[in-house]
Amino acid sequence: MSGEAQADCLFCRIVEGSVPATVVRESETTLAFRDINPQAPTHVLVIPKAHHPDAASLAAADPALTADVLRTAGEVAADEKLGDGYRIVLNTGKDAGQTVFHVHAHVLGGRGLQWPPG
Ligand code: 5GP
Repeated sequence: MSGEAQADCLFCRIVEGSVPATVVRESETTLAFRDINPQAPTHVLVIPKAHHPDAASLAAADPALTADVLRTAGEVAADEKLGDGYRIVLNTGKDAGQTVFHVHAHVLGGRGLQWPPG
């Protein structure tokens, strides 16, 4: 269900602290932590602490929280000194490669990024 912590959700467990993560930023509503399998010199995941499965359901349920996630992504990019550019990716659904169904914004940077993505 949107908003409520899910016992079987990996990222809800990271929020509650039962699964460890390298946290780089935390606010009342968001958490940012390093991806366990980085695809760029900076690869940080930004999540809302509340459980929402994907970007569309988050935006429909809580526009302010959606803005919090994007603001935190920008703060992470500034912390990581990604002034030359970075990418925010919100994989949505199986065909896009979404594997964790707790919405997360990938913040990728620190190298030249190709376009289009694969
Ligand atoms: P998706 O494929 O759903 O867009 O992204 C999920 C991301 O979560 C992947 O980049 C994957 O490496 C990362 N990930 C999966 N399990 C863990 C974990 O236990 N800890 C952290 N920090 N990242 C994880």
